[in-house]
Amino acid sequence: MSADQGTAGQETGNERYAARWKGALTNNYGTPALALVRGQGAQVWDADGKQYTDFVGGIAVNALGHAHPAVVSAVTEQITTLGHVSNLYASEPVLALGERLLQLFGREGRVFFCNSGAEAVEAVYKIGRLTGRTHMVATGGGFHGRTMGALALTGQPGKQTPFLPLPGDVTHVPYGDVEALRAAVTEETAFVLIEPVQGENGVVVPPAGYLTAAREITRATGTLLALDEVQTGIGRCGSWFEYQQHEGVEPDLVTLAKGLGGGLPIGAVAAFGPAADLLQPGQHGTTFGGNPVACAAGLAVIDTIAAEGLLDRVKARGERLRSGIEASGHGLVSHVRGAGLLLGIVLTEPLAPKVQLAAQQAGFLVNAPAPDVVRLMPPFVITEAEVDAFVRALPGILDEAGRSGE
Ligand code: PMP
Repeated sequence: MSADQGTAGQETGNERYAARWKGALTNNYGTPALALVRGQGAQVWDADGKQYTDFVGGIAVNALGHAHPAVVSAVTEQITTLGHVSNLYASEPVLALGERLLQLFGREGRVFFCNSGAEAVEAVYKIGRLTGRTHMVATGGGFHGRTMGALALTGQPGKQTPFLPLPGDVTHVPYGDVEALRAAVTEETAFVLIEPVQGENGVVVPPAGYLTAAREITRATGTLLALDEVQTGIGRCGSWFEYQQHEGVEPDLVTLAKGLGGGLPIGAVAAFGPAADLLQPGQHGTTFGGNPVACAAGLAVIDTIAAEGLLDRVKARGERLRSGIEASGHGLVSHVRGAGLLLGIVLTEPLAPKVQLAAQQAGFLVNAPAPDVVRLMPPFVITEAEVDAFVRALPGILDEAGRSGE
C-alpha cells in the first residue's frame, strides 16, 4: 500500500484537510486534494507522509527550496530584532534590499516595495497615470495579477469576464508581434507592459528581438516600457532579470515578487530614469510594504544565489532537464520551451491535467497552466539526481496520462 492510501473506509490525512478546507474557507481556490505538511530543499511531504520532488516550487517562488538555512536564519534574526515598523520609519533591511536590487540592475533608480505581484503591477498602473497619459498596452495571454487594475492588464478574457467592466483604457496586442505593438503604441500611451517570458500562459517565449523592438517603439513615442518579471526575475531564467539576456533593453519599470522573498510575501517595482521621479511621497503606499522580515528574507535569497553561483546552476539544471525530456522521444512530447528553470513541456494532446495527476502519483509535483503545457519551475537547489529521477520517470507518467485520457 502506498503512503497516500488509507485502509478501506478510513479517511486519509489529505482527505481530512480537504474536509476542513471545505468547511472553513471560501471556495475561491477550490479544494486541494493534497495537503503539504513539510518541505526540505526540493522535497515536500504530504499529510499522509508521501514524499514528492517539487517542480512547482510554490509557483516559481521557492528559489532556494524549502527551509533553506539562509532564509530561516535571516527571518529568525530579523523577527527577533524588529519585525515590523511600517513606512513611517526607515529600517535597515528595506534600505539594504533596495540598494542591492539597484546593484543587480546595474542602474540608478528607485524601488517601491509592496506585498505581491499584483500590487507591483498596480503601482505600475499608478505610475503610468502620473505621465499624464491614460492609454496602456499589454499582451494577449499575458498574466499580471487578479486585482482590478492588474486584471485589466491581464490578457486572458476567461479571468476577466465575470468582473467587467475593468478599469482603464487597455489595448491587448498579440504577444511577440512587433508590428501589432508598433501599431498600438502612440503618443497617448502611458506604458507598455510585457512579460519577458509569459509564465501563466504556458511558458511562451517571444521571438528573438521582441523586447529590443519594444524598447525602440516605446522610446519613439515617449512611452514607458514596463517589464513584468514577477515570474522570470531573481534568477529563475538564469540571469538576475530575464531582460538582461536581451541586448540593449533598458526598461523604465520592472515588477518583481515571487522568488524575491524566499517564500515570504513581497513585491517590488524598480523605476529608472525619469520614471523614478513620477511617484511622489504620499501618492501611494501600503502598510506592509518593505516589511523588515520580508526584506531580510529577500536579502538572504539574493546573497545565497550570488554566493553559491546559483544562476549558473539554474542554466545547467534547466538544460539537463530540457535535454533529458526531449531525449525521451515520447510521442506525447512535442517540445520543451522556456528559459533556465522556467520550462514548459508542450504536449501533442491536451492532457496536461492528467500528466499533473500521474506525476503526483509517481511522486513529482508539476503544474498545468494550459491544457497542453506542463510547467516545471523547481527550486534552483534541485540536484542532478532529482532532475534525472524525474526524467527517468516521465515516460511512465506520460504513458499513464495517455491511458487515463482514453
Ligand atoms: N505577474 C506575473 C508575470 C505573474 O506570473 C503573476 C503571478 N503568477 C503576477 C503578476 C501576480 O502575482 P501575485 O500572484 O503575487 O499577485
